[in-house]
Amino acid sequence: MGNDAHPPQTPPVVPTGAPAIDVGLPDRPVAPARLSRISIGIDLGTSNSCAAVVQDGRPRVIPSRDGYNTIPSMVALNQRNRVVVGRHAKGQLLFNPSRTVHGAKRLVGRAFDSSVVQSMLPHFPYDVVAGEDGFCAVRLGPLTLSMVQVQALVLREVKGVAENFLGEEVNRAVITVPAYYSEQQRAAVRRAGALAGLHVERILNEPTAASLAYAWGRNVKERVLVYDLGGGTFDASVLELADRVYQVISTGGDTFLGGVDFDDRIVAFLVREFEKLHGPYKWDAVARSRLADAAERAKCALSEQESFPVHLPYLATVDGKPTALDTTLTRAGLEALVAPLVERTVQTCARVLDDKGLEPRDVDEVILVGGQSRMPLVQERIRSFFGKAPSKAVHPDEAVAIGAALLAHSLNSAEGVVLIDVVPISIGVGLPGGGGRVKRVIERNTPLPVRKEYQLATTKDDQKTFDLWIFEGEGATVAECQYLGTIQLTGLPRGGKGSVRIAVAFELGEECLLAVRAREIGSGREVEVVFTTKGTPDEVKKRLEKEASYAAAGIERPPGAGAAPPGHDGPPASTGSREIPRPASPPEPATGLKGLWSRITGR
Ligand code: ADP
Ligand code: MG
Repeated sequence: MGNDAHPPQTPPVVPTGAPAIDVGLPDRPVAPARLSRISIGIDLGTSNSCAAVVQDGRPRVIPSRDGYNTIPSMVALNQRNRVVVGRHAKGQLLFNPSRTVHGAKRLVGRAFDSSVVQSMLPHFPYDVVAGEDGFCAVRLGPLTLSMVQVQALVLREVKGVAENFLGEEVNRAVITVPAYYSEQQRAAVRRAGALAGLHVERILNEPTAASLAYAWGRNVKERVLVYDLGGGTFDASVLELADRVYQVISTGGDTFLGGVDFDDRIVAFLVREFEKLHGPYKWDAVARSRLADAAERAKCALSEQESFPVHLPYLATVDGKPTALDTTLTRAGLEALVAPLVERTVQTCARVLDDKGLEPRDVDEVILVGGQSRMPLVQERIRSFFGKAPSKAVHPDEAVAIGAALLAHSLNSAEGVVLIDVVPISIGVGLPGGGGRVKRVIERNTPLPVRKEYQLATTKDDQKTFDLWIFEGEGATVAECQYLGTIQLTGLPRGGKGSVRIAVAFELGEECLLAVRAREIGSGREVEVVFTTKGTPDEVKKRLEKEASYAAAGIERPPGAGAAPPGHDGPPASTGSREIPRPASPPEPATGLKGLWSRITGR
């Protein structure tokens, strides 16, 4: 898998390590010299971020200097080439959309070449590019930032707001992520926290955080469903709460479904209304940005009222004349536009329940979080699906940060809580010669932490290396799954075909971060594991689909069971094989998940 095989459509790789404009972030994470007294909770949202703290035994949201409880999760390069974050960044969104990053949460920890990113590209008003590590980055004029850096800037802003409010240094935090976030996305958020100067005490799932806020100060014994519809993501999770134990039993979601998709439907409607009168029009970025802003305003207003006038003067130039958009959107009209999106969220709830053989009536309370859940249509559909009105016990914008603060506090106090999460997305290996089939190693909804072994045997005499392609997803084939990377087992001992057997252990810790270890079954000796994301997901997929000539792959067996399963060959082009079992300082892979790499090697 050489770099030379990159497909031609890949744009030039832009170095993100040395931007011409200093954004004041370290190149690599630096641990704080002294940990602060206080630890806060941070909800790092797609649209808005929020911080909270427990003071005198009570959780509270931390307000910003100008009195807002949330901070827009936006980063921009202003006209004087200075990086601005939060409300200042949002302030320039309308007139400078191509230099204002929002929705970074959807892109962080995603490979630029992945099909999901490629299909999203036309929707971003700013320039999304491939960072030097192959993950998404953004180009704002002369400045290129990795998405991890963008998230780090937002986190640093939140940290500053907290320090200003509390009057002391704050460098410890619990940060929340969607339950449905992949392992790579979690690792990226951890890294962003570290770049922002935070010691990340725990990555916490948002629905678990919302449940902590919900159950705080009450002795609940309930099965709840947390319905979190935010700006860019949707999560549905079923939890059982009892006596300080918060156990997620089923989770599902959509990292590409949220308020902005509702806005997009309204923009399309506004465009249709305008073009009905004036004919097809070529919209520029500023006009699109104004349309999106008007759409969001109308949408929020229609949660309170039945109709809303949309008036955008000088929106377009038709026949050389400045032309306005003038129309009215009604609540019923809005509901017709977005009903399919709401339906998708209800279907996800049904699937999440069905996964555990539950019926809607088996849920004691539905907890709504996320700004978009304020929409009356959402509340009505929840009521009709579950047969009961959703709970009003938590604040939709603040519950997640409050829950994170409660956990941060409990980690430092005697009265701890027990959180049990599950694997949100199945993890499997691609089978060479299997026609692109993926063999699942860890099923979704398995409680965390989990360790699963996968056994392999060599299929050639003196085979030195083995490559295993790791995927995430529920599909049966590589085309339907997300490529995570390749694990290469190297420095295998000499021996006849089939005589060398290796047990590969996949471990997902409490935070659902993946570590992989391998040992040779005969001697018990550890085998060096090199993780790389070299090669693009599509290349790997194509290759797996093509490699029908390889022998059948390993079959999962319980540890220590019987004879070796038939093994599989490493592909002939396999690179980086090493004779030394565990070098004192292993080389970093040329590209790849540095965070994951360090977890694998323990460095
Ligand atoms: P995130 O957690 O992803 O940052 P939020 O929970 O802050 O998102 O939700 C932001 C989304 O909620 C935006 O799309 C916003 O338009 C939408 N929203 C906020 N208030 C309302 C409202 N009153 N009615 C409908 N949608 C709303
Ligand atoms: Mg949120």
